Amino acid sequence: MSLYLPHFNLQNYNTLASPVCADFFVSVKDEAELMAALKFAKENNLPLLVLGGGSNIVLHDDFPGLAIHIQFMGKELVREDAEHVYIKAAAGENWSDFVDYCLDEQSWGLENLSLIPGNVGAAPIQNIGAYGVELKDVFSELTALEIKSGLSITFTAETCQFGYRDSVFKNALKDQFIITSVTFKLTKTPALKIHYPALRDALTNVSADKITPELVSQIVCDIRRSKLPDPKTIPNVGSFFKNPIVNTTTLAAIQQAFPNVVAYPVDENSVKLAAGWLIDRAGWKGFSQGAAVHEQQALVLTNPNRLRGSAVLEVAELIKASVLTKFGVELEQEPRNYP
Ligand code: FAD
Ligand code: NAP
Repeated sequence: MSLYLPHFNLQNYNTLASPVCADFFVSVKDEAELMAALKFAKENNLPLLVLGGGSNIVLHDDFPGLAIHIQFMGKELVREDAEHVYIKAAAGENWSDFVDYCLDEQSWGLENLSLIPGNVGAAPIQNIGAYGVELKDVFSELTALEIKSGLSITFTAETCQFGYRDSVFKNALKDQFIITSVTFKLTKTPALKIHYPALRDALTNVSADKITPELVSQIVCDIRRSKLPDPKTIPNVGSFFKNPIVNTTTLAAIQQAFPNVVAYPVDENSVKLAAGWLIDRAGWKGFSQGAAVHEQQALVLTNPNRLRGSAVLEVAELIKASVLTKFGVELEQEPRNYP
C-alpha cells in the first residue's frame, strides 16, 4: 500500500530545487496504486501534480494538493519487423538511461536525445527534442490512464497531436491523462541526423564510416556537459523559453537593426529564432538577482540559491519584457508553473 506523506517538501523532486511543500505526496509503481491515489485525491478534493523527474516544472509556491510521483518501471521488446524494433518503456524509467539501453540493444534513433533529464512518461508531453530529432520521429504509441474514468487509452502519433515542444497533453487534453508507458519505433540500421552545426563541427575530422550512433550519442553528451549546468550542482530546468516562430516580415524588421540575428527556416512564411541569441543580445547573460542567467547559455535560467520558483519567474519576466522591447518578439515559457 502506498504512503500518503503530508506537508511534503518537494525540493528533491524538482531540478530547480524549489523548496515548496505539497499538502500530500505519494509514489506509485503500478496502475492499482495510481488508481488508489486518484481515489484519495478525489475523496479529499485535492488538485493533482503529476511528477516525473521534475525537470520541466517551476514550483513557485506550495502546492495545495496531492503530488503523485510516477514510478512505473520496466522495458520490453514488443515486436519487430525486417527494419524496426518496437520497444515499450514504462513511464517512470529515466529517459537518459533508456536511451543508453536502446543503444546497447543496437536499436537506433534516440542518439540525438541523449542525456535529456526526466522520465519516459513526460517525454511525449512536450515532444522532447534536441539536435534535430524530436520524440515524434521515433514514436509508435503510448498508453495513458484517463483521470476521470480510470480507463487506459492508447494514443497514436496522430492523436497525440505533436508539435514543436507541444502535444495534445498541453492543450485540449491538459491534466486529463496520466501517461503510463510509451512504445518507440527504432531502426535496426542507423539513420543518423548530424545536420546541427554543433554536431557537424564535432564530426568534421571523422571519416563517414566511423560515424556511429554511439559516437553521435557521445558527442551530444560531451556538448551538453560543456554547455549546460548539471541540475544537481546548479539547479535549472534547461531552456526556459521556447524558440519563437515568427513570420518573415517580422524577421526582415529585426534584420534591419540586427543583421546577424540567428534564424532557421520553418516553412515558406516563417522562421524559428534562437531565443538564446535574443536574450544574450539583450544583455542578460550572466545576470544574477536571486536567480541567474547561465553564462554559457542565456536560454537557461538557474536557481543557485535554491529559492522558490517565484524568484526564477521574476527574472524570466524581466527578460521577456526586455526582449519584447528590443526585438518586438514575445517569448513563451517552456516549463510549466505550479500551482
Ligand atoms: P516533469 O518536470 O516531472 O513534468 C513535466 C510536465 O509533464 C508536468 O506538467 C507534469 O505534470 C507532466 N508529466 C510528467 N510525467 C507525466 C506522466 N507520466 N503523465 C502525464 N503527465 C506527466 N527538453 C527537451 O525537449 N530537450 C532538451 O534537450 C532538454 N534538455 C534539458 C536539459 C536540462 C539540463 C534540463 C534540466 C531540462 C531539459 N529539458 C529538455 C526539459 C526536460 O528535461 C524535458 O521536458 C523532460 O521531458 C521533462 O521530464 P520530467 O520527467 O522531468 O517531467
Ligand atoms: P544550439 O546548438 O546553440 O542552437 C541554438 C538554437 O538554434 C537551438 O535552440 C536550435 O533549435 C536551433 N538550431 C541550431 N541548428 C539548427 C538547424 N540546423 N535547424 C534548425 N534549428 C537549429 O542549441 P543549444 O542550446 O546548445 O541546444 C542544443 C539542442 O539541445 C537544441 O536542439 C535544443 O533544443 C536542445 N536543448 C533543449 C533544452 C530544453 O530544455 N528544451 C535544453 C538544452 C538543450 P531547437 O531548440 O529547435 O533544436
